[in-house]
Amino acid sequence: MGNGAKAAQKRERNADKNAPKGSKSQAKVNEAAKSIICATCKQTFLVTTRAPALEEHAQNKHSKTMAECFPGAK
Ligand SMILES: [Zn+2]
Repeated sequence: MGNGAKAAQKRERNADKNAPKGSKSQAKVNEAAKSIICATCKQTFLVTTRAPALEEHAQNKHSKTMAECFPGAK
């Protein structure tokens, strides 16, 4: 009996971190897919944000190029 309760508790705690069955690395991938992060100010943008909007942010906020603020953005 005690074992079952413990397992349920553990499962609950895992669900809390919203990582159902996936590994940590998978969660990381999902997180990366969700957002683009400005390397300068760490502001996050949806991955669907278009390049011109990112470029505008880089130029207006930091007077930098898009490549400088978003090295990973295509
Ligand atoms: Zn920024």
